[in-house]
Order: sequence, then structure tokens, then C-alpha cells
Amino acid sequence: METPVSFEYAPAPESRSVVSIKPKYGHFIGGKFVSGTKHFPTINPATEEVLSRIALAGKADVDAAVKAARKAYVGTWSKMSGKERGKYLFRIARIMQERSREFAVLETLDNGKPIRESRDVDVPLAAAHFFYHAGWADKLEFAGLGTSTKAHGVAGQIIPWNFPLLMLAWKVAPALAAGNTVVLKPAENTSLTALLFAEVCQQAELPAGVVNIVTGDGTTGALIVNHPGIDKIAFTGSTEVGKIIARAVAPTQKSVTLELGGKAANIIFEDAAIDEAIEGIVNGVFFNQGHVCCAGSRLILQESVADEVVEKLKRRMALIRVGDPMDKNTDLGAINSKEQLLKIRELSAAGDAEGGERWSAPCELPAKGFWFPPTIFTGVTQSHRIAREEIFGPVLSVLTFRTPQEAIDKANNTPFGLSAGIWSEKGSRILWASQQLRAGVIWANTFNKFDPTSPFGGYKESGWGREGGRHGLSAYLKGVGHE
Ligand code: NDP
Repeated sequence: METPVSFEYAPAPESRSVVSIKPKYGHFIGGKFVSGTKHFPTINPATEEVLSRIALAGKADVDAAVKAARKAYVGTWSKMSGKERGKYLFRIARIMQERSREFAVLETLDNGKPIRESRDVDVPLAAAHFFYHAGWADKLEFAGLGTSTKAHGVAGQIIPWNFPLLMLAWKVAPALAAGNTVVLKPAENTSLTALLFAEVCQQAELPAGVVNIVTGDGTTGALIVNHPGIDKIAFTGSTEVGKIIARAVAPTQKSVTLELGGKAANIIFEDAAIDEAIEGIVNGVFFNQGHVCCAGSRLILQESVADEVVEKLKRRMALIRVGDPMDKNTDLGAINSKEQLLKIRELSAAGDAEGGERWSAPCELPAKGFWFPPTIFTGVTQSHRIAREEIFGPVLSVLTFRTPQEAIDKANNTPFGLSAGIWSEKGSRILWASQQLRAGVIWANTFNKFDPTSPFGGYKESGWGREGGRHGLSAYLKGVGHE
């Protein structure tokens, strides 16, 4: 294959002077920062530098947070009109916009994602979620969800490390708009933007206890899930933990929504606009280092165009700029943690062992930090682990098909059902395929498009319930969500 000409870019580093990271953080309970007892380090995955020390919440901290949330629900938030609640949400959204650079830099330092993505995707979308839900706060009776809408009470929310601020927004904005108060736990690797969000709550003069943030690991998450003072659980993360949570809440009155894993098929029919599709494939699996539950990690190619697509894809992948996430030219940043890197390596090694043919884009990886090059496996069959399991990294598995029905059968041959992509010039084929695919979100001639107005969620082991849009709102109202 001819190597494409690439030009050296001058470095364009974003300054980190806009953020001030404290050496140590506590929890945010009842409107105040309170100190923790035990702490653990949080690192920058691109450099392994220790950024700060994060508190590990135990039972007493979670109890205090739930108590503060209940007090705020009973005393203030449930008594406030939707119009007043909406004003706070608008205020939060505007402050997030005003402090967007600070959020973007902090997110990139703590998570390893490219600054271009945190600046242009994560932070604007997070603010958009607050704006969107602010608009609903005084119109719940008109959402088509019944006329006597009532909040659950206290919502316990547990989020992952791949989109720390955005997942917080997906959880907190609808909960507050619907009239719930919140106890939220960010992932242990990526707590910093949630703690900055706590400052935003103070700045917006949100009544004390409406939002409480406790940091910690899976044990803290389990304390929230099992707390008798919580009425609703909202979780995003692995299917494995989702199952533990489903089992824990089954004998209780708690309402639950679960956003879990995925193994999306991105199907390219022979009549697709191939160059457009290449961009969609790249965006589908290399956006956010592939740490995306709806990533298009299985490329399903019609045989007649398979060679052409793979060749063009390799040329395009060779142009992906991997490296310093704080550089504005970087396309692919650091893998979020050593554990995740080991998991990606392990599954890629299984791909080799099972007969897949690996190709990685030629690129120099930094010596420090956690890195994995953009990689594709061709010759993959449905029984390979890399075709079945969520890799959650910049690794694409390529399968082929002859007839449209074969494409659908292969796409649906997974325990997951979160998202899918279809590339074709024919509207009728797109409509036919989207009706056959068992996936909650289906993109046609595009991929990874997100909007607060659009419901997002999965079938099968990808979860229960929807987030975003009217459907997502219903999950935070009694009697209309997934009880
Ligand atoms: P987890 O599902 O373990 O983490 C998600 C959140 O749940 C984190 O805040 C975590 O805490 C918390 N948690 C962990 N155990 C429990 C528990 N028993 N009860 C309640 N909360 C709990 O994902 P990982 O970070 O371990 O990632 C593992 C794999 O999961 C990844 O390789 C990827 O394949 C998949 N994943 C999928 C995501 C998705 O959006 N679909 C998102 C993240 C991961 P903490 O991290 O602080 O320990």
C-alpha cells in the first residue's frame, strides 16, 4: 500500500493554566465540600502524573449524602414550581458555557481524551443537556407522560469514565428537571470535572442538597445502589456491573435505568458513498479512543466493496494523529487507564490467536502513559472474541457479507443492541435495514451523532430505559418510566 503524504504540524498545545487543581478533594454534600477520610490518587493517563487525591466515600459519607438529598427533596425541591427549578437549570447551563474552557482542559487532563473532543463535543453537549431539560421543567404536564407527573424523590446515579462530564449531564439534568434530588458518584479514574460541577452548583446558588457528589470506587457505587433511602437508580457502565445492580434492586421498590455495553455493527452496502463511509467508520470507532458504548466496533462490509473499503480505510487511519491529548491537532488521545489498556491488549491478542489479521496505523506512541494505535482486524468471523466482546478501545473488527439479509443476521448476532450504522444510497434499503436491526439507536449515512432531544438506549444486554428526549425524562417520573 502506498503511504499517504503527511505533513508535520507545529505543536498547538492548549494551556493548562486555566484550571487550578487542588492537591486533595472531599465530597460535595448538602451544598458544601466536606473532607473525606481515605483518599486515592487520580492520574493523567497521558503522562501518569498524579493530578490530585480523591476521597473514597464509605457508608457514613453515602448516608450523609442521601440524608442531604432527602432533606432537600422534602424541604425545598419538591415544593418549588417547575418554572423556578428551570431557572436553576438554565443558570447551571450558562455557567458551564462560561467555564467551558476550564471544563474542557480538566476533562482532557483527567481522562486522556483529545482537547478538541472535550472542547467541541463533551462540554457543549453537557451544557446543551442542561438547556434542553431546563425547558422541560415547567412543561412536564405537556410532555405526553400523563398530567399528574411526580418525581421519584432521591436518585442515585453512577457514571463511567469515558464521558465523565457528559454522563453527569445526562443523569443530573433530567433528574432535576423532573423534580428529583441527586446523589451522584463519578468513576474513580475521572472525578475532577464532577467536582468542578459541584462548584458550578454553588455558583448557581442551587439549594443545598439538591445535588450531592460522593467520590469513590465500586464499593461506593454499591453503597448507593443498596441504600434504602434512594428511590431511583440510574447507571451507565459495563453490562457485568449492570447485572449486579439489576439483581440488587429487583427485590426493592427502586426504579432503575441501565445504560450498558454495546458491540455496534456499522454496515456498508456496495452502493454507499465509500469516501463518506470511511469518515463514518473512523468516527465510529476511533472517536474518544473507542471508549464509547455505541462505538461502531464491528464493520460489516459487502464483499464486492470490501477490498476497496479496507484499503481506503488503512490510508485514512495512517493519517490519524495519535499523541498529546492537550495538543489541538491530536485526533486520538490516551487510553483511560492501565487496566483498560491491558484489556484492549488481551482482546487484541485473542484476535491474533483466533486467526484475525491485525493491522495498526504506523505511529509513534509516547513512552509514558497508556497508548494503543488505531487498529483493524480483517478476516474476523462471528465466533471470534473480538467480534463478540466489547473491546472499548481503538480496535475495529471487519466482517463481510454477500446479501442484505446476511448483513442483518450478522449485525443482530450479539447479546448487545445499543446502536448500529447503515451506509447506502438507497432510502428503501435504509428503512428496511433499520426495521430489521435490533438496536436502540440507528444512524444512516452518519455515526455517533448525539443530541439531548433524541432518546438513547439499548435492547437486550445493552440496558433498560432511555436517556434524552421525552423518553429519558419519563425515567425520572413516577409511574411512567421503567419501574
Ligand atoms: P464499571 O461498570 O465497573 O464502572 C462504571 C461505574 O460503576 C463506575 O463509577 C464504577 O466505579 C461503578 N461500579 C463498579 N462496580 C460497582 C458495583 N458493584 N455497584 C455499583 N457501582 C459500581 O466499568 P469499568 O470502569 O470497570 O470498565 C470495565 C468495562 O466496562 C470496560 O472495559 C468497558 O468494556 C465497559 N464499560 C462500558 C461503558 C459503557 O458506557 N457502556 C462505560 C464504562 C465501561 P469505579 O469505576 O469508580 O470503580
